[in-house]
Amino acid sequence: MAIEPDTKDWTWVLQRACNECGFDPADYPPQAISQHHRDAFPRWQRVLERADASERADENAWSGLEYSAHVRDVYLLFTERTQLMLDEDDPQFENWDQDRTAEEKNYAAEDPRRVGEELATAGERYAALLDTVTDWDRTGLRSNGSRFTIGTLTQYGWHDVVHHLHDVRG
Ligand SMILES: [Zn+2]
Repeated sequence: MAIEPDTKDWTWVLQRACNECGFDPADYPPQAISQHHRDAFPRWQRVLERADASERADENAWSGLEYSAHVRDVYLLFTERTQLMLDEDDPQFENWDQDRTAEEKNYAAEDPRRVGEELATAGERYAALLDTVTDWDRTGLRSNGSRFTIGTLTQYGWHDVVHHLHDVRG
């Protein structure tokens, strides 16, 4: 499984465009990102409505269903981390092993309709939290030493969604 673990450093995507999905952080000021998430929910619904949503195109990539379940959990994680940065000064995040989460929760066996509902609910909760942020410079520390602000974490999370929509051609 060639899914990148959380320990892999993707923070370069905050400095320059991603040549796989075309994401450029300069195009996405953090203040505008909550609406982009909301606009993306229907795209995930369409991925989940595909007849082959639970099929993997090849063994190195998740199915549309698995990517959708992952994005739902990204929304839960980023809500938690953003809230922590709002509540505490420079908190350290616990490590998140996304591959282990995928196995433990058995993404591949989940019900696509339910994943769609949970993705939209978790995503809206995250977007609503972003709408409350006034100080985008508050910091937090990932377990590998990468320091984020709420602003860069927000861009980082949006890249994850854009990149996975690219992965599933959604
Ligand atoms: Zn990308």
